Amino acid sequence: MKKVLAFILPAVLLPLTRFSAWITPAQWSDFAFWGTIMTRADDMEVVMDEFYMKEALAEARRAFDLNDTPIGCVIVHDGQIIGRGANERMARKNVLYHAEISAINQACEAIGDWRLENCRLYVTLEPCPMCAGAIVQARIPTVVFGAKSHKAGCAGSILNILDEPRFNHRCEIISGICEAECAALMSEFMRNLRKS
Ligand SMILES: [Zn+2]
Repeated sequence: MKKVLAFILPAVLLPLTRFSAWITPAQWSDFAFWGTIMTRADDMEVVMDEFYMKEALAEARRAFDLNDTPIGCVIVHDGQIIGRGANERMARKNVLYHAEISAINQACEAIGDWRLENCRLYVTLEPCPMCAGAIVQARIPTVVFGAKSHKAGCAGSILNILDEPRFNHRCEIISGICEAECAALMSEFMRNLRKS
C-alpha cells in the first residue's frame, strides 16, 4: 500500500504544484480564482513534503532501533525516492555513515552522476557541517529538514553552509516539516540514553 501511495501521490500532486509556476503574479492577481489555485498548490507542496518526511522518519526509526542517534534521510527525483539513509555511525563504527551521506551515495548510484540536480533531500534533523558540505558539493537544489540542531546545525542554526553566497552553489532551505515528530524521536532517544 505504501509503495502504491509513493507512486500515485507524486504523480497526482507534482503537476498541481508545478501549475503555480506557469502563471506570472501579474496574471493571477487579476483573478481571485488564480489566487485560490496558488494557495491550493502551496498546500499540495506541504502535503508532499510531509509525505516524504515521513519516509525519512521511517529511516530515523531504523537508526533508533540500531541504538544510533535517530536521523533519517531520503532523496527524491521525479517523484521517486532514489536514495535512503539512516544514521549508522555507531552500528558501523564510522563517522562517515550519517543519514545524508548514505542517501547521497545511493542517489548517485541510482542516477549515475555525482550531480544531484533536480533532486530534493529530506532529512529529519538539520544537517551537520560534513553533510551540509556534501549536499553543496552534490548541487542539491532543495533541502527540507524537520527539527533544528542547536549543536551542529549548518542550515542556519550555527552556520549556514547550505545558503552561503560565497560558495558556487546555494540550496533552497525548507524547515519545520513534521518538526514535532522529528524532535520527539530525538528526545525519546536522549531520555533512553540518560536512563541506561
Ligand atoms: Zn551529518
